[in-house]
Amino acid sequence: MRTSILERIAASAKRSGRRPEDICLTAVSKQQPDEQVSAVLAAGQNVFGENRVQEAQTRWTEQFADARQQIELRLIGPLQTNKAVNACALFDVIETLDREKLAKALVKAIDTTGCQPEIFVQVNTGEEPQKSGVIPRDLDAFIKTMRQTYDLHPTGLMCIPPAGTLISGQAPGPHFALLAKLAKRNGIKNLSMGMSGDFETAIEFGATHVRVGSALFGERD
Ligand SMILES: *Cc1c(COP(=O)(O)O)cnc(C)c1O
Repeated sequence: MRTSILERIAASAKRSGRRPEDICLTAVSKQQPDEQVSAVLAAGQNVFGENRVQEAQTRWTEQFADARQQIELRLIGPLQTNKAVNACALFDVIETLDREKLAKALVKAIDTTGCQPEIFVQVNTGEEPQKSGVIPRDLDAFIKTMRQTYDLHPTGLMCIPPAGTLISGQAPGPHFALLAKLAKRNGIKNLSMGMSGDFETAIEFGATHVRVGSALFGERD
């Protein structure tokens, strides 16, 4: 399965005049049984995404502790301030910075742990009330505050377009285009966008990181 996903990534990269090696496949291992994770690791996958701190801790410091040093681990789910220390200690990249209160907690956690995770900012491109993420019109000011007040320097933006956009006829493309535009005008180079159903579209709009779960591992438990 991994090979076919990599082939699809390469094909969409070529279609949009990009280099396949500029697109990172993040294997979203949340809620996957150990056998599936083992198989994907054995196939050579070395970047993984998790959406819950505790589940990730169990997986990557217990079951798969041996593999932890060989992989890059990315937090792609919402982060509570009381888990900031654990998240900093565990993850190489935190993709879901979305509020000032969390920035404060992260700065403290970075100081406490001595760890320096790379930071992405999550953007709520669809302005959905139930979804986390900075809304687009607040993003420029938010990034500025991160840099000037917190000395945090996000290297990427992340988004999850409204669910069912394909079914409801509202394509994800405009959300990806918006994220790319916001990143560009803030001097940010990485774009984490695209999941199992839409990663090829995301690549055409400039994704540097695609987060693929079910298409890679099979449906979750
Ligand atoms: C679960 C999840 C994914 C992967 O979803 P699939 O549709 O299974 O590929 C990607 N991004 C985030 C933020 C997720 O929570």
